[in-house]
Amino acid sequence: MRALWSNAAAEAYRDGLTGCYNRRFLDHYLQDGVEAFRKGRGGFSLLMCDIDHFKRVNDTYGHQAGDEVLRRFGEFLRSFCRETDVVARYGGEEFAVVFPRTPRDLTLAVADRLRESWRQKGVYSTTFSGGVAELGVDAPDAAGVIAAADQALYRAKESGRNKVLLAGVEPEAPARLVAASPAALQARVLVVMGASRRVGATAFALALAAFLAGRGAVEVVDAGGGALRWLRRDRRIPCRGMPPFYATPGVTTIVDAGVDIPVEAMPFASVVFLVTDMSPGAWQLKPPLAGRTYVVGNRGASYSSLQEFASYWGLEALCVLPESHEIRKGEEKGTAPLPRSWLKSLRQAIEL
Ligand code: GH3
Ligand code: MG
Ligand code: MG
Repeated sequence: MRALWSNAAAEAYRDGLTGCYNRRFLDHYLQDGVEAFRKGRGGFSLLMCDIDHFKRVNDTYGHQAGDEVLRRFGEFLRSFCRETDVVARYGGEEFAVVFPRTPRDLTLAVADRLRESWRQKGVYSTTFSGGVAELGVDAPDAAGVIAAADQALYRAKESGRNKVLLAGVEPEAPARLVAASPAALQARVLVVMGASRRVGATAFALALAAFLAGRGAVEVVDAGGGALRWLRRDRRIPCRGMPPFYATPGVTTIVDAGVDIPVEAMPFASVVFLVTDMSPGAWQLKPPLAGRTYVVGNRGASYSSLQEFASYWGLEALCVLPESHEIRKGEEKGTAPLPRSWLKSLRQAIEL
C-alpha cells in the first residue's frame, strides 16, 4: 500500500483538504488487512473518531475555520501516530485510524492520549469522541469492524463526548466512581441539593454548569425527576440521568440531586451546594456533611436568614439568588444566569 501512496496515482487515494488517506484507500487497505489476517498474518485495530459539536465551529466562525480545524486535526493525527498507522478521513469530520498488529486495549490507550492531547491543543476549543474495535475480536470482517467502532463512537457521543470507548463495553465501566476516589479520577463532583421542593436547585445547577462550561468539560447528571433534561432542550451541556452514577475523568460532574442526595455520589462530592428558600420545611432537612457544603439562598431569602440557617447546621453561607424577573424567566427556560455578585464567593467555593 505504501507504493500506491508514493506514485502519481496516489492522488486518487488522498483527501484534498486534509492530505490524509481517503475512504477509498481505507476500504482497500482494510480489505487487504482482512485477507492477510485470514492467512494468519497481522490483524489490526480501528479507531473511528468524530469531532464533537463540529457544526458549531462552522456556525460560529464560518466554514473556513471549520476547514482549518479539519486540516489541523488530520495533521495532528498523522504526526501523533506511527509511520505504519494509517490515518484516513472517513467523511465530513469523521476520521479513521488503523493500527496494524495492535490489540484493542493498547489502541484504546493510544487513542485516549490522542484525545487528551487534542483537547489540550484547544483548536477552536474542539474535542473529539472515538470508538475502538479489533479485527477478529469484535468482528470477522472490515465492515463489521467499522460498524463496531462506529457503535462505540456513538455511545461515546451519547454519554457525554470527549471520550473514547471500546466496542461492546458499557461506557460507565471504566470510570465508575464506586471503584475509585474522585482525586484518582481527576473528576470534580459538585452536588446541588434543594432543601425543599421547588426551590430552584435545578436552575442553580444549570447556571453553575453554564458558568463552568467556559472553563472546561462539564456534564450534568439529573438524579431524579427528569426536570433537568426537560429544561435543557438545547443540550449545550451534556446531560444524563441516574442511575448508575459514574463520572468521567477530567470532566466536572454536576449532580442535580433535588431533595435527595444520591447515596453513590455522596462520598465523592467535592462540594455540596444546598439551595434553600429557608421555608420552615427546609429547616428540617439535615444537610449531608460530605465534602464541603455551602448553603445558597433562593427565592429572595435574605442573607441574614441564610447565615442563620447555615450556622444552625454548621455550614458556610454562599450567597442569595435575587428574586428577579430574569431569574424566574431563566429558570423556566433552564438558562438562569448566575448573578455577577456571586462569582467571587462561588470561585472560592469551587477553587477556580
Ligand atoms: P457531534 O458532536 O454529535 O458529532 O456533533 P457535530 O456538530 O460534530 O455533528 P453534525 O453531524 O451535526 O455536523 C457535522 C458538520 O460537519 C455538518 C457539516 O456541515 C460539517 N462538515 C462536513 N464536512 C465539512 C468540511 O469539509 N468542511 C467544513 N467546514 N465543515 C464540514
Ligand atoms: Mg461531529
Ligand atoms: Mg459526524
